[in-house]
Amino acid sequence: LFDVSRPWLNRVIERQPRQFLRAVDHVSFSVAKGETLAIVGESGSGKSTVARMVVGLMPPSDGEVRIAGISMTDPRQAAERRQLRRRIQMIFQDPYASMNPRWRVDRIVSEPIRAFGLLSGEREIQARVGELLTLVGLHPDDGKRYPHAFSGGQRQRIAIARALASEAEFLVADEPTSALDVSVQAQILNLMRDLQDRLGLTYLFISHNLAVVRHMANRIGVMYLGRIVEIGGGRELFTAPKHPYTRMLLDAVPDLAHIGRQRVPVQGEIPNPINPPSGCTFHPRCPFANDRCKAEVPVFRDGVACHAVEEGRLMPGGVAAVA
Ligand code: SF4
Ligand code: MG
Repeated sequence: LFDVSRPWLNRVIERQPRQFLRAVDHVSFSVAKGETLAIVGESGSGKSTVARMVVGLMPPSDGEVRIAGISMTDPRQAAERRQLRRRIQMIFQDPYASMNPRWRVDRIVSEPIRAFGLLSGEREIQARVGELLTLVGLHPDDGKRYPHAFSGGQRQRIAIARALASEAEFLVADEPTSALDVSVQAQILNLMRDLQDRLGLTYLFISHNLAVVRHMANRIGVMYLGRIVEIGGGRELFTAPKHPYTRMLLDAVPDLAHIGRQRVPVQGEIPNPINPPSGCTFHPRCPFANDRCKAEVPVFRDGVACHAVEEGRLMPGGVAAVA
């Protein structure tokens, strides 16, 4: 369904005071229909930029985004792209910020139905809104209330109902549960999985938290400073991580820290992306870095971009034999 053609030389240049920031570079992945691909990374890794590019909120300055064979950037495909807009919707971390607080919930949820001309009669539209609210675990009467009357979790349900109102097939969710209490997080994640099963939805799920994506994702891509450093099946990534940064992220989650591996302690902070480190940008934080790492950008190969893995001095899941 979704494919970012390779190599995707994405140079997203955001204006900084007299400086430029390359937020995302050489990012390339695909998502199959009905699958969940999670993109995980710390804040500043560029994962939200990827999300915004996929839904067309931010054009890449170079390279290409292609969904269901349609380019999100080619001006000759503008008409096809308009059709595609209906099929791809985004869910944000703060649903309240994306809602007009003066609109009743039924108006918020019905807006895409009207905008895309999916139904015309007022009775049909209201019936559809009631159906959508029920689908996300709310009551049809909730449509008569305003967003402020709802909890954070309920607002996220409203946002999901609105996303589904356009009959979207592909949802891009940027930290959809990060602002919620842990118990509510689980409810929203369960709802998203249930909807995926029932409606055959495809998800691109952006998160800083590996524990959150653990039960959501078929595949996980790990981003560091604007690049995907490892991508793999969920189970594989949790039991046999390759990249030192993936190991570090796993070790930051207490429940996941010791799945048959020695611990790699978290160290350092994400560097300033305006002036990224040379070679492998992870080298200042990496316990396995050597001189080659400081000089040479590792090539992405077999699901990982790391010299130590390529040289065989770091085995998946284990810890280095020789440094
Ligand atoms: Fe560490 Fe070198 Fe691998 Fe980068 S390339 S993650 S510095 S071992
Ligand atoms: Mg973000």
